Amino acid sequence: MNKIFVTKSILPPIEEYIKEIKTIWDTSWLTNMGVKHHELEDELKEYLDVPFISLFVNGHMALELALQAHDLTGEVITTPFTFASTTHAIVRNGLKPVFCDINIEDYTIDVNKIEELITENTSAIVPVHVYGNICDVEKINDIAQKYKLKVIYDAAHAFGVQIKGQGIGNFGDASMFSFHATKVFNTIEGGAVTFKNQKLHRKLYNLKNFGIESPDEVCDVGANAKMNEFQAAMGLCNLRHIENEIKKRKNVTDRYKDHLSGIKGVKICDEAQGIKSNYAYFPILFDESIFGKTRDQVSHLLEKEQIYARKYFYPLTKDYACYKKIFNSCLTPVANYVAARIITLPLYGELPIEHVDKICDIIINE
Ligand SMILES: *Cc1c(COP(=O)(O)O)cnc(C)c1O
Repeated sequence: MNKIFVTKSILPPIEEYIKEIKTIWDTSWLTNMGVKHHELEDELKEYLDVPFISLFVNGHMALELALQAHDLTGEVITTPFTFASTTHAIVRNGLKPVFCDINIEDYTIDVNKIEELITENTSAIVPVHVYGNICDVEKINDIAQKYKLKVIYDAAHAFGVQIKGQGIGNFGDASMFSFHATKVFNTIEGGAVTFKNQKLHRKLYNLKNFGIESPDEVCDVGANAKMNEFQAAMGLCNLRHIENEIKKRKNVTDRYKDHLSGIKGVKICDEAQGIKSNYAYFPILFDESIFGKTRDQVSHLLEKEQIYARKYFYPLTKDYACYKKIFNSCLTPVANYVAARIITLPLYGELPIEHVDKICDIIINE
């Protein structure tokens, strides 16, 4: 059997991509918000069901500049159970991350522990829709209103997810999506910010283009974070196949669930009520005292068979060498527990069902 990785990037048929990029040779317009860029913005606005969107070179810069656009100061409440990008984006804005614990059900921010972390220096909350599991957006909204805080969601995992028929990018002041090669939808590298306030569009446009307001005027300390035409072309192609990809991912997920639900000491996430999922990840948590094997033991057994699950998310960002001595004073017992016991299993549309069967057999029986 060939190596099986945790994900496999989605590519359109090569002829489709060639056809899509051909027109770029007519105009020689390669980047700086060209025709493909605008087309993709329009199509994504519709697909994600959001009023406004701004595209970026990658998800990380989208998040960094979304935070910058809100003129935040002081402290930002977030979780350490996430990818490096979330915490880095806060710190690179000169802000202090304050780590809130997660809940054990779906690993998103524990909304009952946010208020005790709010101080007079708090300016925002940056929750993560981790694995595509949706945060308690209503409770977070209530808290934000009460304390006048901004909310910027890291929705990197939540492309296409809907809650009660509404796109997930409609909550908070802004949401960041990642279109990295490893995500459900990719533009090779890429990302977006969605939002409701029209004024933010101009601001984000400037910030991703060096803060240039007009040929004679530079108003913001911007970056270069523009999505180019080849990225946008990849997005236009992949978007035509996204529903099919999500459908195939659901089949893989269902198969995993058939094998793994009900196994003692193994926790998988329940399907949430009223949510249209994107089946982005399949996290599984081992309680070694009941299951008999630790996460690391399972991970080794899989690796011996050339199957590469990922310890997503371990370590916690607050335990990184660059943060350990500075920002890790908050206690997050649930996040610590989960990070030591969780892996995400291989999941992508083309993963053969027999491979799912084999992976589960190794986990349960070896
Ligand atoms: C992928 C990811 C990002 C960053 O996105 P890039 O497009 O890779 O820059 C941010 N947050 C989370 C949770 C992610 O998984």
